[in-house]
Amino acid sequence: MEIINFLSSHADLKLDASFKDITTIKMGGKIKYLISPFDMNRLKLIINFLKEYAIPYKVVGRGSNMVCGSRDYNGCVILLEHINHYHFEDDNTIYVESGMVIPRLANTLAKLGYSGLEFASGIPGNLGGLVFMNAGAYKKEMSDIISEVLVLSDGEYKWLNREECAFSYRHSIFHERRDIVILAARLNLVKRPCDDIRNLIQDRLARRRATQPLDKPSCGSCFKNPEGDYAWRLIDGVGMRGYNYHGIEVSQKHPNFIINAGGGTGEAFVATLNLVKTRVLEEYGVSLREEVEIFNC
Ligand SMILES: Cc1cc2nc3c(=O)[nH]c(=O)nc-3n(C[C@H](O)[C@H](O)[C@H](O)COP(=O)(O)OP(=O)(O)OC[C@H]3O[C@@H](n4cnc5c(N)ncnc54)[C@H](O)[C@@H]3O)c2cc1C
Repeated sequence: MEIINFLSSHADLKLDASFKDITTIKMGGKIKYLISPFDMNRLKLIINFLKEYAIPYKVVGRGSNMVCGSRDYNGCVILLEHINHYHFEDDNTIYVESGMVIPRLANTLAKLGYSGLEFASGIPGNLGGLVFMNAGAYKKEMSDIISEVLVLSDGEYKWLNREECAFSYRHSIFHERRDIVILAARLNLVKRPCDDIRNLIQDRLARRRATQPLDKPSCGSCFKNPEGDYAWRLIDGVGMRGYNYHGIEVSQKHPNFIINAGGGTGEAFVATLNLVKTRVLEEYGVSLREEVEIFNC
């Protein structure tokens, strides 16, 4: 009871949620405590409390890069949806908090005539998740526009510069430092005519609609592209386009998307992922590396 009282005095609290509700692939077991802290200072208090009580916790963005297992999670999942403010610091710099949803931010910036985030307008995550993943598309990635990242690390607020974030292809220091919470970032933007920005966004979205199964629950591309090649080409090459196992399907439209075709589970997803990896290794000698994160499975 003490835990529930504490959490509910600093956050919205749900006791009956599951990972199905908070991931885009819509699978996964129940979550003991699902919370949305009211602000950064409350988040800090909560994390200190969870550490003191040795309660496991996981910060989740929009759950668009996560596949979760069916077993219940006996810990606390933290959403940052209330920590979602932004403001301009000068003509070229915007401060954005982690809970800001990226397609919404990209559209707002387009209306205001700020360019830089068009590449990410179709990535269905929030700022924190995109920084964590150094998400990217169309030969651009978050590290191209990030100047600094505000984090909560060892109970302190700290600004990390780009070098300290150690960004690389779909990777950052935050993969190694799972204890750090990303709170906000400063992004560098440039002024550009609104119509040019809008046209670029429309072009990118049309390309996505033509090539990706956006009408099906998924977590985007499951594997990183190997040097000089495309994961989808290798998966197609081993004949796995359309492969279905217990409701998990290698997409017909884009074989690097593995979708929940109905009733899929994290366990069936992992089995499919492993089969794809084995077949590609046998056929091409290439070890595919996961882009998607498997959690609690
Ligand atoms: C239809 C579709 C299309 C996609 N297209 C692309 C694409 O073009 N390019 C691309 O790169 N990705 C793409 N993705 C994948 C996904 O959207 C990105 O990886 C995105 O960056 C994940 O953001 P999120 O907020 O959903 O993070 P989540 O999936 O919620 O979390 C991912 C990881 O980040 C950690 N995390 C999240 N927020 C924080 C925080 N504040 N502090 C610390 N850790 C945090 C989580 O703990 C987890 O380990 C796509 C996904 C879908 C479903």
